[in-house]
Amino acid sequence: ARKIESRIINNFPPSKPMIRLGFNENPYGPSPMARKAMMDAINGSNRYPIDAVDQLRNRIGKEYNLNASNVVIGAGSSELLGIVGAWTVMKKGTAIVPEVSFLSWTPAAKKIGLDIKTVRLTGSRVIDLSGMKNGIESNTKLVYLCNPNNPTGTVLPPNELEAFIRNVAPTCTILLDEAYTEFNDTPSMAKLVNEFPNLLIAKTFSKVYGMAGARLGYVLAHPQTISEITSLQPWANASASAVSLAGALASLDDKSFVIYCKTENAKAKDIFYNALKKANISYIPSSTNFVYFNCENYSKDIVAQLEAKGIAGIRTYEKNTRWCRLTVGTVEEMGKVAEAI
Ligand code: PLP
Repeated sequence: ARKIESRIINNFPPSKPMIRLGFNENPYGPSPMARKAMMDAINGSNRYPIDAVDQLRNRIGKEYNLNASNVVIGAGSSELLGIVGAWTVMKKGTAIVPEVSFLSWTPAAKKIGLDIKTVRLTGSRVIDLSGMKNGIESNTKLVYLCNPNNPTGTVLPPNELEAFIRNVAPTCTILLDEAYTEFNDTPSMAKLVNEFPNLLIAKTFSKVYGMAGARLGYVLAHPQTISEITSLQPWANASASAVSLAGALASLDDKSFVIYCKTENAKAKDIFYNALKKANISYIPSSTNFVYFNCENYSKDIVAQLEAKGIAGIRTYEKNTRWCRLTVGTVEEMGKVAEAI
């Protein structure tokens, strides 16, 4: 996976135009309303965007029936995942994470001393909640969950996830990463944050809202917990730019764009599923904008096949297996992927 990642990065900007399917980006965004708001916000970029931060925190709060005090803004959710890792080190606790999952934030946390234990997914590549629960030890102070999970695209049954939170959050911090919930209407657990100060929910504008390059994410939590997190930011809630804040605010009102992205994503995913089926490649139906598939019955080199057609971004996972992940691009792009396979 590292080799492929470095190939993607080294090849950017690419020598020839490549179809980029490695980062679970949304090929359609930002939304038309967000683009306009971002262009307008350039003019006011000589000022710190204090009002825009307040507006966005309020607006996000409303989206989940919460308040501005339940929201902390970051330059992408990655910034905030990193802060939660650092916070756990400060509390002298260890962490438990699923394997395989979205663990980009863990090397930085390890570097500053976080001890991380992993729990394997179930055979159907779903997070093993009882394994996670059983793995919690007296010094475990953080449980990371990603729902839907990246790279597998699988979701936890909402009642089981809620029961896990109710059971674990009284004694241990849960960091629930909901980067992809919007693609398939996976229910958010935001309704629980005021009841459980130990529950933190990470969200992003990088995925369904198509603003990965604008770098804007947030965490929802109890106001007390939000204060803890913001106290670890060099300037509370001030890492996002005026332009990104304006785009995010506008994109929350552009509901038809979200519907469009979801619909196109579903169509493009179907094209990819059909190509995989034809090639005898098994896959896990995904609730996200990427697909996890297993090339063990496929004799050809799928990475080379796609690269030959100008498609970059397949990543491999699970050592000594042939599990891969590919981001779902546009309908046209997935037609090219299908053709290449
Ligand atoms: N969480 C998950 C599960 C992701 O897959 C990603 C990015 O791919 C992120 C968080 C980071 O998103 P952001 O762009 O908000 O930093």
